[in-house]
Amino acid sequence: MQVTKNQINDAKSLNELEKLVAVCELCELSKTKTNDVFGVGRDTADILFIGEAPGKSEDLLGEPFVGAAGKFLNEMLESICLSRKEIYIANVLKHRPPNNRDPLPKEAELCWPFLRRQIELINPKLIIFLGRHSMNRFFPEFKISEVHGNAFRKEMWGRNQVFLALYHPAAALYNGGMRDTLKNDFSKIPKIVEGIDEEY
Ligand code: URA
Repeated sequence: MQVTKNQINDAKSLNELEKLVAVCELCELSKTKTNDVFGVGRDTADILFIGEAPGKSEDLLGEPFVGAAGKFLNEMLESICLSRKEIYIANVLKHRPPNNRDPLPKEAELCWPFLRRQIELINPKLIIFLGRHSMNRFFPEFKISEVHGNAFRKEMWGRNQVFLALYHPAAALYNGGMRDTLKNDFSKIPKIVEGIDEEY
């Protein structure tokens, strides 16, 4: 079905939006997907994590970050006493690119209105990018090596939004230095959330 931007923008809840993702055929990924990977967590979460695209495990289970990178993410969440139920986890793309290839710019563009509406409905206080690809969808000029771990505030769609960029758990999984950096950046999240109304 050719889902329209108006339909997406008119979705009144995440449930409604998820139903549109399920019938969306705007790009070719709908033909090769097993499941939709819309997102998971609390509808009113203060913290929204955004990854790039579902991988094989996510496509099979219909949930973001359930493979090796997800296990590592869960460990880091536990280390700051957060559960997946308290936060929200989504991806830029809602369907898996075959053979784990990088998303095409066109796919990200077509899927963008879904992510935008998802953010509007969740209305998080803090958006955390998991990896440079998701960060660069929002801030193409940023370099993750320069901005990771430092929360910043930016105007987005008429609202003052706080962001934090982190290295992608999959990239850090087998790279000791990056892994330590990611864990250290992750440990800053509680303080960032605590001071979010005054600082940044
Ligand atoms: N990597 C991502 O960016 N998202 C997932 O859901 C899984 C792995």
